[in-house]
Amino acid sequence: MSIVVQKYGGSSLEGHARIEGVASRVAALRREGHDVVVVVSARGGTTDSLVEEARLLAPEPKQRELDMLMTAGERISMSLLAIALNAIGCPAVSFTGSQVGIITDTRHTDARILEVRPFRVVEELEAGNVVVVGGFQGVSTAKDVTTLGRGGSDTTAVALAAALGAERCEILTDVDGVYTADPRAVPSARRIDAIAHADMAELARYGATVLKEDAVRFAERNGIAIGVGSSERGTAGTIVLEDPPHAPRPVTGLALVAEASLMELPENVRAQVVREFEEAGAPVRLVVGTRSATLVVVEGHPRGGASADEAEVRPVSLIAIVGPGAAEAAVAAAAISVVEDLGCAVEAMVSSGRSTVIAVSRDAADRVIGALHDALLGEDTAR
Ligand code: ADP
Ligand code: ASP
Ligand code: MG
Repeated sequence: MSIVVQKYGGSSLEGHARIEGVASRVAALRREGHDVVVVVSARGGTTDSLVEEARLLAPEPKQRELDMLMTAGERISMSLLAIALNAIGCPAVSFTGSQVGIITDTRHTDARILEVRPFRVVEELEAGNVVVVGGFQGVSTAKDVTTLGRGGSDTTAVALAAALGAERCEILTDVDGVYTADPRAVPSARRIDAIAHADMAELARYGATVLKEDAVRFAERNGIAIGVGSSERGTAGTIVLEDPPHAPRPVTGLALVAEASLMELPENVRAQVVREFEEAGAPVRLVVGTRSATLVVVEGHPRGGASADEAEVRPVSLIAIVGPGAAEAAVAAAAISVVEDLGCAVEAMVSSGRSTVIAVSRDAADRVIGALHDALLGEDTAR
């Protein structure tokens, strides 16, 4: 069996014409002789509006019920796509995450996949059907419906590809591949043909939503190559794999967390605050300690760190410079110069592993990322 897993994102399924377009591309793949599993997201904006509706009824809805609600978005997409496929004579059947055996832990709204038991998928593929799966969801060891964190349909696709031993795993979206920076924020960004899992995971961690970090880490652990491409063309412009064939440049790409908050914590509360953030599942992106103080940067607004109340909260943006040589002193020095030449301040900075991450004021972020791209990834920078 040559199994292809394709995941279509929210914008690819907005409106009947797009659903029909996806159906005809999937049917063509089936006619080429592949067994096709299609993972779908909720249509664009659906998950946000479901969450907003819940918050009108209760400011802090129960997480279990939020999970139940949010999975409704993917159910709509999966059944509509299966209906469209059947209508053009391509037999298809849709399933929830629970039905295809995606077993997770019990952490509602941000569950981790523990195991995939894809028996029903295999049975239906053997019966000649295209299998359409609602992404972003599973069932917990306590038998409750869970979701995998925002953007989690990517994780569903990679986990299914691993469990099925698929020949290809493709994430199809509204861009034609992974770029050196978000092409909407940095127009001079270039498409990357091949990128290492390690770099992609780091970019995703710092805001490159084109792939979810968990999905990339899952792929890395299981040796899965991910193709990323345009849902309209149905082909991958970038391949994410363990070891890209070309000699790597020191910097692969840049990513941006536009809304983050920086807190400077005094010695007496720092351990407590960091622990509270961890317990609340707050997306802590940087912790930088010195003997007397600790800087903590969380994505969005701080939540869960009650002991942080006295700390001054500064709104910042985080920019990550990612690549095999991105933590080298030369890159860090170049980055500091770029920020200072723009008359901006480096609010915090850490170089380690495969990245240098800089916090700057939010109003400077667009200018800084553009200038960093010119300096570190421009056409005339050394290859
Ligand atoms: P989907 O709904 O298909 O899951 P997402 O919105 O999650 O799509 O991801 C696609 C978006 O990711 C693009 O529209 C693009 O603006 C953004 N993006 C951020 N960083 C990058 C990058 N480095 N390369 C490509 N796209 C990126
Ligand atoms: N619908 C979910 C979200 O908006 C999951 C996904 O799109 O991957 O986050
Ligand atoms: Mg996404």
